[in-house]
Amino acid sequence: MKDKERGQHIASVSFSDVTKIFPGNNLALSSFNLNVVDGEFIVLVGPSGCGKSTILRILSGLEEPSSGRVTINGEDVTDLEPGRRDVAMVFQNYALYPHMTVFDNMSFSLRMKKVQKLEINRLVRETATILDMEDLLGRKPRELSGGQRQRVAVGRAIVRHPAVFLFDEPLSNLDAKLRVQMRSELSLLHNRLESTMIYVTHDQAEAMTLGDRIVVLKDGVVQQIAKPLELYDKPTNRFVAGFIGSPAMNFLKVRIHKDQLFFGENSIIRINGNVMDGSYEFGVRPEDIHHSPGSEWKGIVKIVETLG
Ligand code: ATP
Repeated sequence: MKDKERGQHIASVSFSDVTKIFPGNNLALSSFNLNVVDGEFIVLVGPSGCGKSTILRILSGLEEPSSGRVTINGEDVTDLEPGRRDVAMVFQNYALYPHMTVFDNMSFSLRMKKVQKLEINRLVRETATILDMEDLLGRKPRELSGGQRQRVAVGRAIVRHPAVFLFDEPLSNLDAKLRVQMRSELSLLHNRLESTMIYVTHDQAEAMTLGDRIVVLKDGVVQQIAKPLELYDKPTNRFVAGFIGSPAMNFLKVRIHKDQLFFGENSIIRINGNVMDGSYEFGVRPEDIHHSPGSEWKGIVKIVETLG
């Protein structure tokens, strides 16, 4: 057993053939399989409605799968009520109790579990130290900035020492600068706690920087599960190639003839390998386009963006 700081649990998670069909024959998730190892940071990405939140909700017990099983540490939790699953979820809107202080928000679940007062005090202060918010414990949520509220929401999860942390787009209400800052804080937090985390985001940068592995979903179906750079360099299909990367991969309709790749009338590159002659779609990332001496490219610059 790893000697984890603060005694977080060891937690592996598995989804076996999990399918969710909502009323009206709405297939939200189709035969989803995933094994998450202890301490892993898994990121779920995909277009709106692809089933990301459904996965978190099924793991936390807020939603029942139509079929398939879910286990935490080998224990089948599919039919276990949410309160007994030992997972903590951080939501996009923080879901703090507005009338309670930060201390009371953070200690709420411990009080529900009838943890002793002294122990609650210790746990909340310890967590506040980790998140550098000891000074905020007496404030109400309305007296906090967006970033501070987000920190309280994370603190409320940490204080419970859950087996698994679930994050549902936790940074999307923050402005761009704060988002980047909180992203690094989450990454450091993960290094420190070594807890198993499953994280839903729309943000490419969050997915690439935080994830040990990324799960790309489309219409409830897994497209690829891989390490960030593997997704980027070796996408398994056209969808993943177009979805991962910002700016996105360029796609061109091309023709291959005798190992030459033609775009319109011009041969743009020589192909190495055995590619049959025919029509293809050619994907190329912006940084892989180079000018070689002697070649001539003509085009019209349509837009220039200054990113600073
Ligand atoms: P987003 O990025 O927009 O949050 P998501 O990937 O998290 O989307 P889900 O919320 O998991 O997507 O939804 C997956 C599909 O299931 C969608 O088509 C959605 O409309 C549908 N769905 C989700 N919850 C319900 C529900 N309670 N009843 C009926 N359909 C639902």
